[in-house]
Parts: sequence; structure tokens; C-alpha cells
Amino acid sequence: MNLKDINTLKTLLSTPQKIVIVPHKNPDGDAIGSTLGLCHYLQNEGHKATIVSPNDYPKFLKWIPGNDSILNFEKENYQSKDRINEASVIFTLDFNHLGRIGQMQPFLEEANATFVMVDHHQEPADYASIMYSDVSMSSTCEMVYNLIEFLGDVSKIDTKIANCLYTGIMTDTGSFRFASTTSRTHEVVADLIKKGAKNAEIHHKIYNANTPSRLHLLGCALKNMVILREFNTVYITLSQEELDTYNYQKGDTEGFVNYGLTLEGIKFAVIFIENKEEGILKISLRSIGDFSVNEFSRKHFSGGGHTNAAGGKSDDSIEATTRYFVSLLENYKEELTA
Ligand code: 5GP
Ligand code: MN
Repeated sequence: MNLKDINTLKTLLSTPQKIVIVPHKNPDGDAIGSTLGLCHYLQNEGHKATIVSPNDYPKFLKWIPGNDSILNFEKENYQSKDRINEASVIFTLDFNHLGRIGQMQPFLEEANATFVMVDHHQEPADYASIMYSDVSMSSTCEMVYNLIEFLGDVSKIDTKIANCLYTGIMTDTGSFRFASTTSRTHEVVADLIKKGAKNAEIHHKIYNANTPSRLHLLGCALKNMVILREFNTVYITLSQEELDTYNYQKGDTEGFVNYGLTLEGIKFAVIFIENKEEGILKISLRSIGDFSVNEFSRKHFSGGGHTNAAGGKSDDSIEATTRYFVSLLENYKEELTA
């Protein structure tokens, strides 16, 4: 974050503001952890701050301190719109363009507030007058820690904030195993533990919250796995029918895509998940090494994200989409087998 933006933000926050904080649609641990961590900080500083989420999020995130105060734009629509309309400042966290907030997009576009972006995704749009965008960051939660530090307030990170920020750093780094995890990440995490983050308890609450049906759905996903050795690629499909059979709940498929990468030699793993209600396939893409799933998804599946983790979508059937996907691989054979 440059000094000018830090100073502008400092000045802006030197008097009480009405603030709305927005995560991306289908928020994950980093989106919920970062918005809640920032929200607690701003409230402690005397601002009126509210989180408005575009839609619901998984049950395994519903214990994070402050969770009950999050407005769901789909369910608490009028209240959400009121907060957006009266906001003097809107923070957008963990996403890079307003297309990532679904139905909320037009309301934010019309909002008469100062926008602050805090995000680590590639190719940020330029809707925010104050930008903290850094693709080298492990997580938006690490950036919220930095932001509080830029404002000279690290000593004000309390136990609640520490638990929120720890959660998102842990989930976005795959429990500190992805290449985005730096020595600085560990320093931040060490400080958060000093400030009261309950590391073992957080891990337990997030990862040991399975239902039997989720494990059965995982079994189904693994059975559906197709291994394309010649491209060092694996893909998984899940149809709506399969999701229904295993009583799919929001968040149940989180992490499934990573199993493909645990096969020796595999560099590229993808999961295609049918969503009949939205009429699309939601796609998650992961890679190991230099192969950029961000570029791949941007080019072929209207998505994006990071070099090693991205999302996208398809309007076609599972059969047509996977056929198209496999046909694309020939163009990447050299990269994937280097
Ligand atoms: P996931 O596969 O877990 O949904 O997302 C992986 C990463 O890509 C996350 O950082 C997520 O925010 C980002 N991402 C997911 N879907 C999309 C999308 O449709 N567009 C863009 N630009 N990024 C996405
Ligand atoms: Mn993130």
C-alpha cells in the first residue's frame, strides 16, 4: 500500500464513519475472516461498521467471532441496501472486481461512498479510490493485519481480531503449505497467536466439521476422478444428481479439487460442479508450479484468481465442458509436462 493511500485512509478514519464491508460471493474462510477482523477493528475505533455478504456461506465458518452480525444480502435485502446507501466508506475485501459480488454489483456501483479495496487477486479493477492490492500476499487476512499496522495500530489487535485473521490465513494457505506462505506470513501468525488466536481450536473447528454425507460425497468425487497422465492433469465432476444424493450443503465440496494434486506427478487439477439452480457449472482449478490456472481460467472459463488457485464457470453441460476442457490441454502439453 503506498504512503499516499495510507495517509488518505488515516485521514478518512480519523472521524467516525458509516462503513460497509463486503466479501466476495460464496465467501470462504479468508473472505469471512478478513471482513470480520477488519469490522472488529473499525468498531473498536468508534465507527459504525457492518458486513454485507452477497450470499450465505458454509456452516464451518459460522463460529467466527462476530458471525451473527453479518447481513446476508439475499436474505436481509432491505437492511443490506439501507446500509449500503448510507455508507460513507465501503471496504471490498478478497476480490478484484465487482462482478465477484453477484446481485450486489449494481448497488455498489451506485453507492455514494469512498471505496477501499484490500485484495490479493490478479488484475484488480480500478473502482476503488484507495487500493491495497498485492498478489504476492498469502491471504486478505494477512493484508488486514498489514493495514492495521500501516495505521499504527498493531497493538490494538485484540483476541477477537486475532482469531478472525488467523482463520483466513490458515484456510487460504492450505494450513501454511502453499507457496504463498512466506516467513512474513509466519511472523504475522506468530503475533496473532501471541494476541490470543487459538490455533489448534480454529483448525479443529474448520476441518473437523464433516458430516457423514460430506465424506460420502467425497468418495463419489474421487470415484469420478479422471486421470490424464499425458497432460499430468486430473479432473473431477459432480452432477447435481450426485450432490442431491449426498444431501449437499454449502461448503461440502471445498477442498475436493486438491486431492487430484496429491497424485504423484500431477500438476493440474480441476473440479466441475453442476449448479442446476444457477444453470452453470462452477469450476475450481489448482496447479503446482508455474502453470497459471488464473490465465487458463481467464481465457477459457470466464474466471480468474491466483497462479495456483482459480475459479471459473461454464454454461454448458458436464459432458460438453469436460470434452472442451480435454481438447484445450493439447495446447498446454509442453508446459504441463516440462
Ligand atoms: P475456488 O476454486 O476455491 O472457488 O477459488 C479459488 C480462487 O479463485 C479464490 O481465490 C477465489 O476467490 C478465486 N475465484 C473463484 N472463482 C472466481 C471467478 O469466477 N473469477 C475470479 N476472478 N476469481 C475467482
Ligand atoms: Mn483470499
